[in-house]
Amino acid sequence: MKEFIRNIKGTKDILPEESSIWIYLENYIHQFFAKFGYKKILLPSFENTDLFLRSIGKETDIVSKEMYSWIDQGNNNLTLRPELTASVVRAYIQHQLGKQQKNHKLYYIGSSYRRERPQKGRFRQFKQFGIEAFGSEFPEQDAEIISIAYLLYDSLGIKNLNLRINSIGSRESRLEYIKKLKEYFSKYENELTSTSKQRLIANPLRILDTKVDFEIELVKTAPKIIDYISDDDKQHFEEMMIILDNLNIPYIIDDYLVRGLDYYSRTVFEIQTNSLGSQNALCGGGRYDYLVEELGGNHTPAIGFAAGLERLILAMDNTNHQFICNPDIYIISMGDKALKKSFKIANDLRITKDLIVINDTLKRSLKAQIKDANRLKARYSIIIGEEEINKNIVSIKNMETGNQEELSIDKIIDYF
Ligand code: AMP
Repeated sequence: MKEFIRNIKGTKDILPEESSIWIYLENYIHQFFAKFGYKKILLPSFENTDLFLRSIGKETDIVSKEMYSWIDQGNNNLTLRPELTASVVRAYIQHQLGKQQKNHKLYYIGSSYRRERPQKGRFRQFKQFGIEAFGSEFPEQDAEIISIAYLLYDSLGIKNLNLRINSIGSRESRLEYIKKLKEYFSKYENELTSTSKQRLIANPLRILDTKVDFEIELVKTAPKIIDYISDDDKQHFEEMMIILDNLNIPYIIDDYLVRGLDYYSRTVFEIQTNSLGSQNALCGGGRYDYLVEELGGNHTPAIGFAAGLERLILAMDNTNHQFICNPDIYIISMGDKALKKSFKIANDLRITKDLIVINDTLKRSLKAQIKDANRLKARYSIIIGEEEINKNIVSIKNMETGNQEELSIDKIIDYF
């Protein structure tokens, strides 16, 4: 036998036993977002590398070390998208959606690619779903986005949700805070990891995302951004919290939540669940009022979130959902003539009655087909052989009760 080629590390094959939960959840997400008036946008998987450099920011882990980038045969510098917000914003600007109407509410489901170290809940190709709302600067819009994210998980029965929120203020008010943070961490400069030393120069906010124990301790007594943001920013944050309170959405304020991407302003949030281990973030998002401008569009306030489907599926393990669609009918046919007839019967049932019907295409023995029908947990089996065809009848068996009866072939459709 020849040597076979394996999939790439950090990617995953979704085999048939597992694919039903993916189909179920993707359908659920479509329907859920539609209830809030959000419309789907489908985007290319790769973009000009500059799009991500300009939006996500050069100092982020994503851009500095995780992107799959290459120069193509036409000398274009391309990148597999590491997230979808930048692409949504590019499309929003390119197709002048802002001119059509003031408020655009969009959602997406698609793969993202990051060269991270693979572990439970962390892949190099993963599926993200998310929403982006363009046009509204008001706290009501922030509350709508956060509540959609929270209710999605809550409605799926995921327990121990931990919604953390913070405001990182406007770009201007953040400057003063960044100065203070720099002063604070500079006192410990010699003890910081090399990554944090670099961040201290390039973007001290990012040190707050540290996963190193010693630095986590330092963060606990660092200056808080809320003490530096403007009155307008504070009011925006407070009004948003009042709406969340009215909606009974439980949250905690996390003074040091800043999120890893450069483009956020004012509200940022994350939802975690404690059942996932170290990769416990189900989704994250925030307001990005300057991004449309940064990427060449008109000033447009916007807010959104991105969530991982793999992590949602891991969290669903702890719920009681059933996703497998068992067949309604298994047609057991004996002989070529019966198999041909069973194809016709099966199609009629599928089209007119919307049922899941299985034909055996291995021409197996009666016993083997019955065994297969049991294995697949079919609700009914229809048995059809030469003799039945001559008499224009079939045997129908209810696999749960064991009851069996004979029926004229012309009456099968009406029977179901
Ligand atoms: P981010 O864009 O990093 O804020 O990620 C948003 C969400 O996408 C996270 O909360 C995760 O659920 C998911 N996610 C991010 N990176 C990965 C990854 N490497 N593997 C699986 N899911 C991921």
